[in-house]
Amino acid sequence: MKLDFSKPIEIAEDIFWVGYVVPNDPFQCHAYVIRNKDESILIDPGSMIVFPVVLEKIYKVVNLRDIKYIIMHHQDPDITGCYSTLESIMPHRDDRRVVTHWRTQALLKHYAWKTPFYLIDKHDWKLKAGDRELEFIFTPYAHFPGAFCTLDKKTKTLFSSDIFGAISDKFKFYADKSKEYLEGVFLFHKHYMPSRAILNYALREIEKAKPKLIAPQHGSIIKEELIDYVISKLKDLDCGLFLLEENESDVFILDKADNILKRFFEDALVNITFEKILENLFKYIQSEIPSLEKLVVVAKFPEAKEKLIFEAGKDGVTKKICDKEVLFENYKKLFSLEKDGNKIGEIYIFADKLDEKQEKFLNVLFKKISSPMAISLKKNLDYLLLEKTKNELYEKAVKDNLTGLYNRNYLWGYLKNKIEEHKHNPYPLSLAIIDIDHFKKINDTYGHLVGDEALKEVAQVIKESLPPSFVVARYGGEEFIVVMPFTDLDKAYEYIENVRKKIESRKFTSKNINITISAGVAEYKDGWSMKDFIFEADKKVYEAKRSGRNRVIK
Ligand code: GH3
Ligand code: MG
Ligand code: MG
Repeated sequence: MKLDFSKPIEIAEDIFWVGYVVPNDPFQCHAYVIRNKDESILIDPGSMIVFPVVLEKIYKVVNLRDIKYIIMHHQDPDITGCYSTLESIMPHRDDRRVVTHWRTQALLKHYAWKTPFYLIDKHDWKLKAGDRELEFIFTPYAHFPGAFCTLDKKTKTLFSSDIFGAISDKFKFYADKSKEYLEGVFLFHKHYMPSRAILNYALREIEKAKPKLIAPQHGSIIKEELIDYVISKLKDLDCGLFLLEENESDVFILDKADNILKRFFEDALVNITFEKILENLFKYIQSEIPSLEKLVVVAKFPEAKEKLIFEAGKDGVTKKICDKEVLFENYKKLFSLEKDGNKIGEIYIFADKLDEKQEKFLNVLFKKISSPMAISLKKNLDYLLLEKTKNELYEKAVKDNLTGLYNRNYLWGYLKNKIEEHKHNPYPLSLAIIDIDHFKKINDTYGHLVGDEALKEVAQVIKESLPPSFVVARYGGEEFIVVMPFTDLDKAYEYIENVRKKIESRKFTSKNINITISAGVAEYKDGWSMKDFIFEADKKVYEAKRSGRNRVIK
């Protein structure tokens, strides 16, 4: 049966909805009448916006003169706004009462109505009107400190005031199990109820009363079969978390941002990496803005020109370090990531298109997460910087200052490992010692600085002429050792002979000095110690020197 909202609707025996469906208002307010002969009861009469329609509907149900009680569940204008006018047109009766809690009365008295108050807390939370009995359920702080609900004992109808209210674009007279309805209820309670504990207390009190119908002041009327379901859903709801956002009043936008914030802060709390936070954030935002293409975060290393760039999209997050200026175009929004006024980076939002609401939503969201994101980003930068310093320190520890080749220390460790490995995997392993010929003469002729230059250049040539898998170390002043894994004697000889030729055929330093080298090559034999191995190569160097220099001996 289709409901006719232009007329009162009887929702239980002698209980009428007399509200007015305000067009295009997600915040509907309901008034109800209990027809009860000359002790009829008006519940939450409403504001001046709805008054003309509500009054017309009241007339259809009862005579104004027969209204003895006016219940006001709290003092908000959408409940009490019309009463000054209503009181003035109702035929006077001495025994008419405004029924409310003392805390509400403390505020309502300022309207200076003529109607006296009936304080429920002074009357054992009960009211007897003719043969109808009402029981009041105290639901403090949900949402007003003196808030209460009213139960009609005969029909078990609960007038629940703000509890079970809903904010919804589509007006639904009766609640159903649709997602749309529940979202409206959740939005309302998150927004109005101060906390989950307070709401749960109220819900438990209501459950005890075992209502068969719930008639809230906002939202939809809940029939018996749905009551447990809605209560159970509300019990799990986090309330009172609504962000204080000075610049945005659209509760739908605030709710969306709030949902994402909750998940974002969970991510940040479990201390996952910045990359993971960004990856998740992309997914969260994309669920609200399907046209979102990517999020790009750019951060600058302190005192360095390198920039760290994160890009989050459908396929996850990529990270790169870039030493050039980066310029982005075609992004839809840009937010600064700042902590205590220090800019750590910025985030670019790329989307196909953004409507006004989506922009507002992003503004609200990033206002809240700019600082925690900046902190996480800073941590990431600090970590990378630490890694860099660690790498630099390591390099210093294992490399020779002048030539940049590995130093003796590193060589010992490395060679020891290779010999150890050889026991298990007897692949060929060779080693060469390279010694510059008559190097003393270079020093003597051109001075030590030129000698140093020459050493550097020779080292460079050796390194460049050999495969990267070979380890080249500076062994002594002008002596080098090359360790050649997976290389037998003949192959090793070829490599070093090639080095010798290269050195012989070029000039060194600005003085165009000719340099030659002598080298000895040995292949590791089972049972040799490191010393034996080096000694073997050294013998060959000696031989090379003795037989005229500028040669490789194997
Ligand atoms: P040989 O052909 O027999 O190897 O003659 P050599 O002069 O190269 O050999 P010797 O061992 O007599 O002299 C090596 C010289 O290398 C002595 C030393 O001054 C020089 N030298 C060692 N380390 C450095 C260095 O770091 N810088 C410079 N400029 N010279 C160095
Ligand atoms: Mg020497
Ligand atoms: Mg020498």
